[in-house]
Amino acid sequence: MLSKDELVRYDRQLRIFGSEGQERLKSSSVLLVGVGGLGSIISLYLVAAGIGKLVLVDEGVVELSNLNRQVLYTMDDIGRYKVEVAKEKLSRLNPNVEIEIHSEKLTPELADKLVKKADLVVDGLDNWDARYILNKACVEHKKIFIHAGVHGLYGQLLVVSPGKGPCLACVFKKKSSVEEVIPILGSTPGVMASLEATEAIKIITGYGTPLIGRLLLYDGYRMEFNIVKVARDPKCPICSKLENLK
Ligand SMILES: [Zn+2]
Repeated sequence: MLSKDELVRYDRQLRIFGSEGQERLKSSSVLLVGVGGLGSIISLYLVAAGIGKLVLVDEGVVELSNLNRQVLYTMDDIGRYKVEVAKEKLSRLNPNVEIEIHSEKLTPELADKLVKKADLVVDGLDNWDARYILNKACVEHKKIFIHAGVHGLYGQLLVVSPGKGPCLACVFKKKSSVEEVIPILGSTPGVMASLEATEAIKIITGYGTPLIGRLLLYDGYRMEFNIVKVARDPKCPICSKLENLK
């Protein structure tokens, strides 16, 4: 049951998916890997919307060069673990949400352990090695995985629903993660993370149609959004063994 305070706090969204949708949010557990430019915004909106539990993974500490886009952090936080600062700030926004933090790098073992327990997994990452680890664990445990990536004024978004549509490895062939500094305008992860949070909330509440089998491409330079259909690869090393679900 929702408390009086919760009915007030969530009033504007209860008008969309009702108290049933809100109860679903309240009983959900979301795993978010990466609490940088994407993760700042994703975590703020998920916590504001009243999910039950948020699990955060990020081994990074706050640096001055993060502050053009990682809006959870301020000057006072430089040198501190991002997940620790995130937990403090998000708890102040909505104390109803349980927040579990892991200040460590995502390994296949950690991904397996955390994905298994999550209802939904969201990508706040900045590198493909970790994304492939997360994608594989989501396919194995049949968990929906919301992916976004950003570069400059460009972004992409895809919802992976194992068996229903392509996984990340079907669409993006193995990229080697080279250690490079990626140019990013702060508002680009803002756009893409808002879309990831939207998809997460839709999927948990059962409201709307998720972006499965459709890759959304954002071009902030021309201010265009395009969608291309993407299909499962029958030879995909990660998900080809799964049967096709409707
Ligand atoms: Zn696949």
